[in-house]
Amino acid sequence: MHEKTAKPSSASPSGGLSVREARACILGKTAPLGTEDIALERALGRVLAMDVRANRDLPPRDISAMDGYAVQAADIANAPTTLQIIDDIRAGDVPRVALRHGQCARIMTGAPVPDGADTVVRVEDTRPGPDGAVDILVPVQAAADIRRRAETLRQGDIVLRAGTGIAPGTVGVLATVKQATVTVYRQPRVAILSSGNELEALREPFDPARIPDTNTYALMAQVQAQGVEPEILGIARDDPAELSGFLERGLGYDLLLVSGGTSVGVHDHVRPTLAALGVTMHFWRVEMRPGHPVAFGTSGKTLVFCLPGNPVSSMVCFEQFVLPALRALSGQRHLFRRTLPARLSQAVKSRPGRIEFVRVTLAPGASGIHEARCAGSQSSADMPGMARADGLLIVPSASKGLAAGDIARVQLLETGAYQAEAEPGDDA
Ligand code: AMP
Ligand code: MG
Repeated sequence: MHEKTAKPSSASPSGGLSVREARACILGKTAPLGTEDIALERALGRVLAMDVRANRDLPPRDISAMDGYAVQAADIANAPTTLQIIDDIRAGDVPRVALRHGQCARIMTGAPVPDGADTVVRVEDTRPGPDGAVDILVPVQAAADIRRRAETLRQGDIVLRAGTGIAPGTVGVLATVKQATVTVYRQPRVAILSSGNELEALREPFDPARIPDTNTYALMAQVQAQGVEPEILGIARDDPAELSGFLERGLGYDLLLVSGGTSVGVHDHVRPTLAALGVTMHFWRVEMRPGHPVAFGTSGKTLVFCLPGNPVSSMVCFEQFVLPALRALSGQRHLFRRTLPARLSQAVKSRPGRIEFVRVTLAPGASGIHEARCAGSQSSADMPGMARADGLLIVPSASKGLAAGDIARVQLLETGAYQAEAEPGDDA
């Protein structure tokens, strides 16, 4: 068999890599795909493949930050005082006259400051004066409430760099610099295949003797959560010829995800069949729980992940390995889930030798640090527990387990970014 296994740095009982070694192996073989030009309206979630410069100064000249009166600071130093109103300037107007001493102009937010004025007084600090005049009630600091020319953007400056993930704020900046079309990295084409004789497809009739195909859809959703629409290839029986047909199709994509049939059972044909199709297998087995029998290979530029059949294992392996690879292919520079420290509210057992990813829910804790509680049984088949989890708590491979009250790091999952109530005090 065609297996060029990456060497684990530390001797491990079953010869597997560490998670770090496995990621390094994968990312060493992963590069952003080509680029394409798309309309700004479709750019959310994509990754910029170009540096973007400001095409004008913004604001284009000094403008008012408030509704009020443009004045000369020297005139109001001894306020209260009364000034003659000589102009009324709205946003979009071009001021016609320059201010002289004793004069002011009514001015709206965003309107250009007239020549001769150096300060804006807010309406709240004034009251209507005698005919055609306004009473300025208090002195204000010179230059107050003026937004300077080019304060936000200076023409020619780089405002966004290649590699920036396009979030709603980024779309706002791109629109501001009139980038109606943007050059972004191409999105990976992803194929998903499940394997196993026992699997019952989602829309097949219910058969109590079979196992519903969970992985196709959980993996589909993990890919979709990255903004990519995968292709579902279906379910291959544990038969080398049938598998071969499916896998051959899958090798036409940038990334192929196969779940099941990657372990040591006599009917686990996925890895040998891939090898027979010319896929170079770079590793099999990672010292982690769940997810130990994961394997990775490449065929030309196609990345192939063989994920364990157990649904939780398959999702956890996606999080650790497929997600960074998918993001790297998409041109993202931030490849990994955000982690945060959390305090365990119960003990977790662990056998040393494998890093463990414990499915936890998070709740705001007393000292500002989150409280982590186990979600479900931690069996690698417990999908409801996985579905409830806000994150994966990391028990390092050397650890014999953690006690209640211990602090550990948690990788946030998609659901981990929200909470039920606003934090008391955050909205006071
Ligand atoms: P395997 O990796 O093929 O040995 O499968 C390990 C376990 O995961 C077995 O109990 C399988 O029935 C189960 N399994 C494999 N593929 C799927 C799938 N697509 N959906 C749900 N369970 C699966
Ligand atoms: Mg199987």
